[in-house]
Amino acid sequence: MRLVVAAVLRRGDRVLACRRTRPEALAGLWEFPGGKVEPGEAPEDALVRELAEELGVNVRLGTELVAAQGMWPISTELAMRVWWAETEGEPVAGESHDLVRWVGRGEFGELEWVPADVAIAALVADSLTG
Ligand code: C5P
Repeated sequence: MRLVVAAVLRRGDRVLACRRTRPEALAGLWEFPGGKVEPGEAPEDALVRELAEELGVNVRLGTELVAAQGMWPISTELAMRVWWAETEGEPVAGESHDLVRWVGRGEFGELEWVPADVAIAALVADSLTG
């Protein structure tokens, strides 16, 4: 089982949603940004690295959003851990995404999320006001 890490970047009552450019099956769908942990890499370090690479920001991680099952399931090969995070920088879409957007809970329904992120978005929406 390969570990994927993702961040819910929060700014006030909004969080960052990113629209994927790849693979084809996920292109156009929205996600909480992150990526695969490399062998020997600590999950938190991988997440900080991925957000620097993909969005050009330095992030500070907060607490983990723990799934009922412990990890958020993606597929038979992948499972995900997710952390709240903050940044002072302004995220910019790179090659992995063609759009980034700060969204409040009222806008979550407008976005078509990647399948694994639907349950995460529901939990995040519950903890945002406004
Ligand atoms: O971003 P990256 O392609 O490295 O992520 C690896 C895989 O993890 C993706 O193909 C996708 O299936 C999954 N993923 C996800 N939700 C996220 C981030 C990644 O389902 N927020």
